[in-house]
Amino acid sequence: MNKKEMLITPNTYSRPQRKIKKVKGIVWHWVANPNSSAEANRNYFENRKHGNTGYGSAHYIIDLDGQIIQVLPEDEMGYHVGSYTYTKKALTELSSYPNNCTIGIECTHVDSKGNMTDETRQTLIDLTASLLEKYDLSADDIWLHQEVVGWKDCHRFYVNNPSEYKKDKQKVSDVVGGGKIKDPIKVSYDDLETDEDFVNYLQNGDAGDKVGKLQEKLIKAGYKLPKYGVDKDFGDETEKAVRAMQKDAGITVDGLYGQDSGKALNKMLDTKSPNTRTSLNAYNSKKYKLASKAGLKEYQTFLNTFKDKAGFHSLATDGIYGRKTRDASIRVYQHLARVSVDGIFGKNSKAAAPILKQGKADKNWTYLVQGLLYCHSRDPKGFDGIYGSNTTSAVKSFQRAKKISIDGIVGKNTFDKFF
Ligand SMILES: [Zn+2]
Repeated sequence: MNKKEMLITPNTYSRPQRKIKKVKGIVWHWVANPNSSAEANRNYFENRKHGNTGYGSAHYIIDLDGQIIQVLPEDEMGYHVGSYTYTKKALTELSSYPNNCTIGIECTHVDSKGNMTDETRQTLIDLTASLLEKYDLSADDIWLHQEVVGWKDCHRFYVNNPSEYKKDKQKVSDVVGGGKIKDPIKVSYDDLETDEDFVNYLQNGDAGDKVGKLQEKLIKAGYKLPKYGVDKDFGDETEKAVRAMQKDAGITVDGLYGQDSGKALNKMLDTKSPNTRTSLNAYNSKKYKLASKAGLKEYQTFLNTFKDKAGFHSLATDGIYGRKTRDASIRVYQHLARVSVDGIFGKNSKAAAPILKQGKADKNWTYLVQGLLYCHSRDPKGFDGIYGSNTTSAVKSFQRAKKISIDGIVGKNTFDKFF
């Protein structure tokens, strides 16, 4: 095994520097980008530090020639299995937040089915065996990403070829001197349970722009930070303010700023000055406008019918287009387009866009388009799943504003502007 250390820079999105207390499992992934090198994938994780591509990282990436790149120290947590849902097995055997007790291994592969070179596959077996021995685990502690979260087809090759998965696990077991491997579990959506806390929490010791935003919000909401102000450093003063806010909001007072705290603080700010909502919720610095509330509510109800299949938490049908509705829209898009569902509209997602036009569009796709029009303050005159002349004119109006071809047809470029 040839291992090269190329650790990424500490940052909020891919190297949060939280300690793993006890390693309980090894998770196998695919990089989902055929023939890309380990180093390219490592650099992708590195570039997440800029904050425009969301959270994500893993400890090791195995190259097409079997070489290993180490991206994170083994005792630091990566963001490789965060999800709104987890399987019961993962919640029972790992933890309520499996990132905090697992090591993630990403495999490069040669095609979109996830087929690996013999070298990659052999290194996966060797590396996994050495980690299991190191942490006193057995081959039963190997997980596919899918077995942890329930919905993602990662590692796709093993998800689609359970007998190969079993075979490779058995090879690992033979190395570490374990016994016979059981059949892999079949994951069903009924198995899933949700975890409210996801990855987005801040705590004492954190620093960066996200902390700065939190501090601005706290001050706006009336929680003073007299000594340090907005210094982007989550210290005792900020913690005290978070605790005071949590107490006032009637939620758990733990000084951790997670989803519940975020919701509570936003709600306070809404009542104090409704006009700040837009700037506060702006996601990836993309502006959005409040669109027709009624149409948006219908759209949110529609999106919710896909929540299990597309792996997101039920949306509030509040008629407000924010980060969560955007994320769910991308996930439903990915589900309908049959690409990996990860909530990030990347190259593969864009390439999978259908061509939708008047009289030639499936109902669900049309609902998605009509909903997205509402999200962008365009009115298709009804949320009915019928791609008629009103939808066409609304699409044209959107295309005109975005300076792309004005043809009333929704394809790659229009979806790109939608997301
Ligand atoms: Zn994965």
